[in-house]
Amino acid sequence: MNNPLQSPSHIGYADGKYVLPPLPYAYDALEPLMDEATVRLHHDKHHAAYVAGANAAAAKLKEIADGTADAALTTPTVRNLSFHTSGHALHTIFWTNMTPTPKAAPAGPLAAAIEAKFGSLSAMLTVFKAAAAGVEGSGWAILGIDPVSRELVVCGAEKHQNLEIPGLVPLLACDVWEHAYYLLHQNNRAAYIENFVKLINWDDVEARYEAATA
Ligand code: FE
Repeated sequence: MNNPLQSPSHIGYADGKYVLPPLPYAYDALEPLMDEATVRLHHDKHHAAYVAGANAAAAKLKEIADGTADAALTTPTVRNLSFHTSGHALHTIFWTNMTPTPKAAPAGPLAAAIEAKFGSLSAMLTVFKAAAAGVEGSGWAILGIDPVSRELVVCGAEKHQNLEIPGLVPLLACDVWEHAYYLLHQNNRAAYIENFVKLINWDDVEARYEAATA
């Protein structure tokens, strides 16, 4: 099973550095469901900070490995790397999971897998939206593939790195950190989740499913 969380091309990693992928559309392309100011800050400041943090933590781990930094820093530095690389990977998926020109429903093997597991697309989305609403504090709702059963599963992640299913292969990720919605939706996370669902790029989710199960 191919996991985009572990793939340099999916996570944005080249020449030994984590890199911020450009947005796959204009900052204002998701208006009015997702506002330009939020998208700009979210990508250029928040996502960029995770990339910078990942590179800083990776550099510190190299110093620890070659003896130029204190080995006692290993645990907090690995924790830092986990937080920032997980944030980087999930944001990279999140941006491509949305499109200004969404189609109403998935097709192909993904559609069949959703129907087999949940009964229907709308039933899966009910579970997905409930998972997103239920994240305590900052985190994500994710539709992914359980690496053991190989079945679709909806779960959450606390912060970025604490996946509720170890080894989960994410296909569709909804960021429910307040920075993702507070400018436009204030405290109405449910309205933001509804708008995210309307923007889902099912072509991208299908491609991720097919790549993971190939
Ligand atoms: Fe975010």
